[in-house]
Amino acid sequence: MKICVLPGDGIGTEIVAQALRVLEAVGGKFGRAFETEEALIGGCAIDAEGVPLPAETVAKCQDSDAVLLGAVGGPKWDAIDPAIRPEKGLLGIRKELGLFANLRPARLFRELADACYLRPDIVARGLDVMVVRELTGGIYFGEPRFDGEKDGERFGCNTMTYYEHEIRRIARVAFEAARKRSGRVCSVDKANVLDVSRVWREIVIDEHKNYADVELSHMYVDNAAMQLVRDPSQFDVVVTGNLFGDILSDEAAAITGSIGMLPSASLGEANPGLYEPIHGSAPDIAGQDKANPLATILSVSMMLRHSFDMAEEADCIENAVVRTLEQGYRTGDIMQEGGKPVGCAAMADAVLSNL
Ligand code: NAD
Repeated sequence: MKICVLPGDGIGTEIVAQALRVLEAVGGKFGRAFETEEALIGGCAIDAEGVPLPAETVAKCQDSDAVLLGAVGGPKWDAIDPAIRPEKGLLGIRKELGLFANLRPARLFRELADACYLRPDIVARGLDVMVVRELTGGIYFGEPRFDGEKDGERFGCNTMTYYEHEIRRIARVAFEAARKRSGRVCSVDKANVLDVSRVWREIVIDEHKNYADVELSHMYVDNAAMQLVRDPSQFDVVVTGNLFGDILSDEAAAITGSIGMLPSASLGEANPGLYEPIHGSAPDIAGQDKANPLATILSVSMMLRHSFDMAEEADCIENAVVRTLEQGYRTGDIMQEGGKPVGCAAMADAVLSNL
């Protein structure tokens, strides 16, 4: 298995280094060989090559089976030409790899329940939702898009379009993901108002015929936003379009209260998937061995599960993380009373010893 590693900026290099130690250990334990190759992205690529996504990086990613990314950006590059900002590297690699599906699990670990913003009785029912968001279509990309002036006043216009093939392929990703979890998909739309959502719902229902073993339900997006805070335990996989997914995946992540714990995956049709923590480069703690590496370690677990079909290896990492939390190890971002304070490397040490 060939993995292209893009540490990026800020804490990116620290958390990725720790996640790679875990990957190597899992490889050793299960007799798997992982070959890794590093490449530049974001601010460090701007410094070295003048662009946030050098062609060599794209080629290395395309030549790999999966990509592991840390984070990009930082104050050093805040004032540069917007056309070559570090974030452009991120958008660029997603586009180059044709990554149309974004998988964001929002899981509340029992040991971190205190960080959750919801009432204890709601938390007790559990929070383990996977939001599958369509990433390359919908209103963020639809044409026409413009702003103008009519009858003496300004206006703006965007278009929400979804083609059948776009809906089918994201639905397939959701059904496949559900098969690796507890087998339930809730498709979120606004079919009571939007024509594009009506088509979305009809196609999802049709595609579901190929996944009879998965349970499918539907929910309007306004209700879904409410249900996520009223009783998130009712959800397993939530599949939705770009705009709704942007909002719901952030909402689901935010209620867990632990940004340093959440991994993500972006998948394409046949190209390598890209795995990264949902947080940014945290310049305020970069280079101080303070970053929580668990989101990146859990991103490695997602990589094993979704790109390499190594469920046992993925479970092994997740169990080691749970055990580490049970033992009380805490980086600053998840510190609680009585917790054992550790830095980035020591947190990974604890995970390694629990593997
Ligand atoms: P951020 O996620 O980097 O940080 C927000 C807060 O959470 C900070 O206080 C930070 O210290 C903390 N935090 C984040 N990850 C942590 C971790 N693993 N362990 C402990 N604490 C952690 O968001 P921001 O401050 O808005 O952005 C900083 C930079 O990152 C900006 O340049 C932004 O553009 C970039 N960014 C990149 C990505 C990405 O690469 N995917 C995503 C978001 C932001």
